[in-house]
Amino acid sequence: MSLPYTIYAIMKPAFLRRLWGRSERADAKRLERDRHGIDPDALSPGARTVVRDLQEAGYQAYVVGGGVRDLMLGLHPKDFDIATDARPEQVRNLFARARIIGRRFRLAHVRVGRDLIEVATFRGDAKTRRGRAGVAIHPSGRVLRDNSYGDIESDARRRDFTVNALFYDPEEQTVLDFVGGAADIRRRSLRMIGAPAGRYREDPVRLLRAVRFAAKLGFRIDAEAAQPIPELAPLLQTVSPARLFDEAVKLLHCGAAHEAFAQLRKRGLLAQLFPRTEEALARGREEDLPFLRRALDNTDARLRAQLPVSPAFACAVLLWPYVRQLLEELPPGDLSPHDAMRTTAEKALQMQQRTLSIPGHHARRMLDIWTLQPRLEHGLGRRASGV
Ligand code: ATP
Ligand code: MG
Repeated sequence: MSLPYTIYAIMKPAFLRRLWGRSERADAKRLERDRHGIDPDALSPGARTVVRDLQEAGYQAYVVGGGVRDLMLGLHPKDFDIATDARPEQVRNLFARARIIGRRFRLAHVRVGRDLIEVATFRGDAKTRRGRAGVAIHPSGRVLRDNSYGDIESDARRRDFTVNALFYDPEEQTVLDFVGGAADIRRRSLRMIGAPAGRYREDPVRLLRAVRFAAKLGFRIDAEAAQPIPELAPLLQTVSPARLFDEAVKLLHCGAAHEAFAQLRKRGLLAQLFPRTEEALARGREEDLPFLRRALDNTDARLRAQLPVSPAFACAVLLWPYVRQLLEELPPGDLSPHDAMRTTAEKALQMQQRTLSIPGHHARRMLDIWTLQPRLEHGLGRRASGV
């Protein structure tokens, strides 16, 4: 037996990995509990189990992303994502109830009790990704597929905003910060990792994510990250209409829908998501703004009260200025009010589907909501409806 093998056999892989892990952490700022304030019991039991099992198997494993950011802000995260140096297949082999999902980005989904935990393998650095196996980049800079793996630091740098790139180890109770995210949380500032314009080109959805996090967290988008947004807004046309719909719903259901809407308008993004609404508002239908405000505030209030909200209601609200404009432009004729609304609503939906595709069942619901439009306009009082 060779000497290196003997050494390897004596020093268990878990120990070696920990050792390598430590050397990789050299460039990170390491925050102890008194600086990050996170109580490990605030994690879901599933997230803790997955981190612990991965670490016991000799891998690095951290809670990362929105979960860490929200805990540092004293908020309740909606879920916890895990980042690890284990490959998706290794994660799948370690857990009985795990499967690999995704093509653009392969991930493992691990079920622990009723918890579903997303486990992603550390990804490679943007600068060195081009030309690697598993990576496809469009000439515009858009990343089409990224399955190249890296270490914890490259994984931190491929994330969008510094506040989303903190790694929490619940066993050691430390937060690792490679990009100054902790200071940005204190400043309540949304700062892009790397040069913002290039990062928006890699994935134009980051334009919407900037607005969503700013609205939801009450953060300021840092000047450098904010400056290119209006100019790059048309890049959203290269994003699939289905992904745009998902992002629009996240914006409308982020808990600060009116603020998100106002920022979308101000930054030239509403024109990309709901172009007809933007046109209607720009053409003098500003009178619809108080209605929009009431409806979106109502969605936020329902979320705070943990009442159900629906994408159909939010989308019906946003398209209402356009629908109303179309109704008013109808030539006088013999259509019944009901038929006039149906015809108009169908046209509005057809125009909308070109940019942001609303799934059929939501679209049908929107037709119903508009047909009952007195409820939409006047029903936002006492018996406010999330439909
Ligand atoms: P939320 O609270 O809305 O879930 P989040 O920050 O957890 O916010 P997710 O979309 O769940 O956002 O993504 C988890 C993490 O993955 C992010 O915090 C970020 O680090 C990274 N991430 C997600 N989407 C992108 C993207 N488009 N570009 C770069 N990093 C991203
Ligand atoms: Mg999340």
